Amino acid sequence: MDKIQSLKGMIDLIANRSDPEDFAESIFRTEDALKNIFINFGYSEIRTPALEDADLFKRSVGDSSDIVNKELYSFLDKNEKKITLRPENTASVIRSVIEKKIDGNTHKFWYLGPMWRYERPQKGRYRQFNQAGIEIIGYPEGVAELEIISMICSINNALNIKKSVIKINHLGNKITKAKYCNALLEYLKPFSSQLDELDQKRLEKNPLRVLESQNQNTQKILKDAPIIKDFLSDESIKMLKMIKNTFSKDCKIEIDYSLVRGLDYYTGLVFEAISDELGAQDAYLGGGRYDNLSEQLGGKNLPCIGMAIGIERLSLLSNVDAEDKTLISFIILSSNFEEKAYKIAHDLRTINSKIVVDVQLSEGSLKSKLRKASKSNAKFAIIMGEEEIQTNSIIIKPLIEKNSEQTVMDINEISSFFKDIT
Ligand code: AMP
Repeated sequence: MDKIQSLKGMIDLIANRSDPEDFAESIFRTEDALKNIFINFGYSEIRTPALEDADLFKRSVGDSSDIVNKELYSFLDKNEKKITLRPENTASVIRSVIEKKIDGNTHKFWYLGPMWRYERPQKGRYRQFNQAGIEIIGYPEGVAELEIISMICSINNALNIKKSVIKINHLGNKITKAKYCNALLEYLKPFSSQLDELDQKRLEKNPLRVLESQNQNTQKILKDAPIIKDFLSDESIKMLKMIKNTFSKDCKIEIDYSLVRGLDYYTGLVFEAISDELGAQDAYLGGGRYDNLSEQLGGKNLPCIGMAIGIERLSLLSNVDAEDKTLISFIILSSNFEEKAYKIAHDLRTINSKIVVDVQLSEGSLKSKLRKASKSNAKFAIIMGEEEIQTNSIIIKPLIEKNSEQTVMDINEISSFFKDIT
């Protein structure tokens, strides 16, 4: 029979605790670190469904974006309704805020979960990937911009990210953005026949997106194109400079007037954090202000700013070690005294939060269990056999310090032995 395999671009994450370099381990550690940062900044969690009405993304992300044009996982359900696996979470969060009429006008939310895009898989690009993100809802341009960049710097610091550049730009308000789009369109029209098929489509639907082209010829043409800086108000330019000055001691920040970001809903500040350690897919987070999205989705006027972080890419850059905990492998040599052994394991976990007690559940010889304990980098094995039960004792065998001898210890003394072990 043919084996059933996972789908292209979708990976299983199976953690291997004993390998500090393990990718899945690093992803889960990164998620924990991000959650801590979100909570420290005073954000609340929001969890929306993976499936949404297909129209949600057409009306938000926009049908000039690659995401909506060719990357959506959309299906008809049993009722012939067109539904989509979310490619990103901002639209769902705003849909939820509008639909639930959540009390109050301001919210700070964080989320974490899988997203789906039918992209060509390559290093750092999957069809199912995980994003964490925040949405700051109800705050007009100003201090929210500072908070979001401050959070990116905190993420870089907490995860000890070495080579990061935060690129920032300002797209102006709806009117400025439209004026600039028009100027770009007028400039690019005469070159239209020299553009490749994708850029021609972009020019037709949203000229801004031509700026993101990977085509070298297009980039050459763009050298003399109008730049958004010339359309921005003094306040917008001042804001970019202020952000750069405020955080430049802590993080590398560059103003990049060609940064536009792929989604249609952005206005105001846009940003992306990149690292050349990632290769071709070098952005590990991105976001911006999206003041018109709520109205676009039928809600009230609600100024918002947010960002999404690619967990897989961030964890490749992260340089934090696993939390230092001491692993103890508990070996029980007869099912007759499992109950007693479990009580000891339970007590050990409660007296010291720095130790991990892994009770070996499998059958097998002492030798094979000790081998397993060593392989998982346990610092001690606790062994309970028939003889120990008769004498109300256990054996403690150090596994890392080579010359240390095993000791036999009275059961009543175990707690004080492990209480202060770190
Ligand atoms: P976006 O929603 O496109 O702005 O993406 C935000 C972040 O999500 C990016 O900076 C990437 O780190 C990550 N990301 C986007 N698409 C993928 C993908 N197909 N595979 C892995 N990570 C992705």
